[in-house]
Amino acid sequence: MSKQVSSIRGMSDVLPEDTPLWQYIEGVLKTVVQSYGYHELRVPVVERTELFKRSIGEVTDIVEKEMYTFSDRNDESLTLRPEGTAGIVRAGIGNGLLYNQKQKLWLTGPMFRYEKPQKGRYRQFYQFDVEAFGYEGPDIDAELIMISARVWKLLGLDALELQLNSLGTPESRVTYRAELIEYFSAHKDELDDESQARLLRNPMRLLDSKHPKMQALIEAAPRITDHLDNESAEHFAGLQELLGGAGIKFKVNSRLVRGLDYYSRTVFEWVTDKLGAQGAVCSGGRYDGLVEHLGGKATPAIGWAVGLERLIELYRVTNGAGPVTAPDAYLVAVGDAAAAQALLFAEMLRNEVPGMIVEVNCGGGSYKAQFKRADKSGARVALILGEQEVESRQVGIKALRQDAEQFTVAWEKAAAAITSTE
Ligand code: ATP
Ligand code: MG
Repeated sequence: MSKQVSSIRGMSDVLPEDTPLWQYIEGVLKTVVQSYGYHELRVPVVERTELFKRSIGEVTDIVEKEMYTFSDRNDESLTLRPEGTAGIVRAGIGNGLLYNQKQKLWLTGPMFRYEKPQKGRYRQFYQFDVEAFGYEGPDIDAELIMISARVWKLLGLDALELQLNSLGTPESRVTYRAELIEYFSAHKDELDDESQARLLRNPMRLLDSKHPKMQALIEAAPRITDHLDNESAEHFAGLQELLGGAGIKFKVNSRLVRGLDYYSRTVFEWVTDKLGAQGAVCSGGRYDGLVEHLGGKATPAIGWAVGLERLIELYRVTNGAGPVTAPDAYLVAVGDAAAAQALLFAEMLRNEVPGMIVEVNCGGGSYKAQFKRADKSGARVALILGEQEVESRQVGIKALRQDAEQFTVAWEKAAAAITSTE
């Protein structure tokens, strides 16, 4: 036997026993965003490296150390997308979707980051992204948050807390930035190495440091909310009022930041204490400067992204295993005549009741072996087709999940009988 090829660290397979829950959660997300009038956009998983450097920013964890970057055969530097927003903005500008237009978009798919794999942190992971372009007022900020709240509610998740902050405008951050640099410079010895390196280039990133020795320092740092310009303060108050009206609870966390110039005003994060260290499930914010920064016409924009692995894990710890997909019927066919008829008989059932799951026993086997497979498949009923049944155009029906006698019906009545058998 040849040596097996192993999978890549931090990149996992989602097995058939787990995909029903993935499909269910993806289905809820899609249905909800579409019920708000958002449209799907699909973009490639590979983009020019430059796109991410320019949009995410050079002084960030992602660009500094997490990107999967490689040269293609033509020596172009390409990168596997670490997040969705950059590609959406690139596609929006390139396809003329944003020019003097409003857009409500969503995207889902795999993202790639070279991180230290651990629970809730992988190298390939899935995000579901929602983004809105062309809207300035706080109503869209509220709508986006309401969308996420509706998803949590439908999934029965109540252990998520909404943390909210406003970053003001880039102009209003100039004095705040200077104050932060002054504050942290005065405590230079207490900074971790990374923070030392970032102090002058991107001081707001220091507020994001997870380093234990930095926490007290961060706690006492100047607060952005004390530096908001009037319009941003009004925008923030407007958002809070809309959320209050919608009955969505939140906590203002003035240390929740994004350190990049094109971020503005609203930032938020849904966090939980049920997932250990990786408690951020969904994060979002306004990036009014990004479209222009990437070469488009200045367009306000806001979005959020939820990490599906974390969302699914939260679903599991809250609600248990989740849905399973089992056939409605498993068709046992014994003997040549029955085997020859089985595929066609199953087609007839699917024609009659679209969506009915009928698994045909392929590959033969004894009656006993086939029945075992029927049980293992999780099917609600077993259908039994033998020589005699084929001749009389009938089928045996045996409920597998309750104690009930086997009975026989004519082929035309089989679909109805399957549907009404528990
Ligand atoms: P963290 O602080 O946990 O590293 P982040 O700020 O890097 O998160 P974002 O870039 O805002 O995360 O991504 C949005 C969401 O995507 C996160 O809230 C999280 O649910 C998920 N996510 C981010 N990185 C990973 C990863 N490596 N593995 C799994 N999920 C991830
Ligand atoms: Mg991260």
